[in-house]
Amino acid sequence: MLPFRVHILGCGSALPTLRHHASSQVVEIRDKLFLVDCGEGCQMQLRRSRLGFTKINNIFISHLHGDHCFGLIGLISTLGMLGRTAPLNVYAPSDFESMLYAQINTFCGGLGYEVRFVPLDTEVKKIIYDDRSLSVETIPLNHRVPCCGFLFKEKPTLPHIRRDMIDYYGIPESQINNIKNGMDWVMEDGDVIPNSRLVTPADPVRSYAYCSDTKYMPQLSQVLRGVTTLYHESTYGEDNKKNAEKYYHSTASQAATVARDANVGQLILGHFSARYNDESILLEEAKSIFANAFLAKEMAIFNV
Ligand SMILES: [Zn+2]
Ligand SMILES: [Zn+2]
Repeated sequence: MLPFRVHILGCGSALPTLRHHASSQVVEIRDKLFLVDCGEGCQMQLRRSRLGFTKINNIFISHLHGDHCFGLIGLISTLGMLGRTAPLNVYAPSDFESMLYAQINTFCGGLGYEVRFVPLDTEVKKIIYDDRSLSVETIPLNHRVPCCGFLFKEKPTLPHIRRDMIDYYGIPESQINNIKNGMDWVMEDGDVIPNSRLVTPADPVRSYAYCSDTKYMPQLSQVLRGVTTLYHESTYGEDNKKNAEKYYHSTASQAATVARDANVGQLILGHFSARYNDESILLEEAKSIFANAFLAKEMAIFNV
């Protein structure tokens, strides 16, 4: 299978701790890298991850809270120092545009590349990125400020060639693409070899949803139905349900309920409150509702 991975750079919440970095992660799909949120220190984490981060051409910012975007100007500046010339697309809630360009004008004089701002309407579900191998769609969330998540969906690939059958029937290399695209093979004597004998099915299509930050949204399970991997914030446990309500965050139980109701493949919990010295309590809480749950951790890599 082609790579589809999530690299966690930071999974803490707003208050800094020595345990976690602020929110940011890299979604790697096939040969592309996408940065999702860019909390303070993101560029140091990118260095640590050894990802070739100059390859990042698209950055998605979920909302304008500092723990999700304070690292952006630093990263933009560094990419300039590294001699970047390719344009960089920044997708973020529309209010960010003037602030971002004011920062760039103040701190990044003579930047050698273009930063292209793409304003997001966080209240609608919309495809904001699309290429040959994937699409990215916004997921409206319910937070204290305009906020959306992101749904990464890969596009279907072609079936796999059965090399043994190709050799057995002596099918020339020039026909491989046609066979992949569904063609049957006709032998010289007129016998037809059905396509199904020449290929094995394509890999199933995978998808990844990033949902941080948000209050519990029961209706999210409709939008996320069947998603392969879900990252859902779980700032608190049920012990702090009142704070979750008050600050428009979720508990681990609520994240797991969304995962269960949406019938996702696996759940990654993140955006942990500084009050937890040990998040295993959050994991246990989630697992009692949805068994295939994991804790995010800096430098962890999850296969979607
Ligand atoms: Zn946050
Ligand atoms: Zn927030």
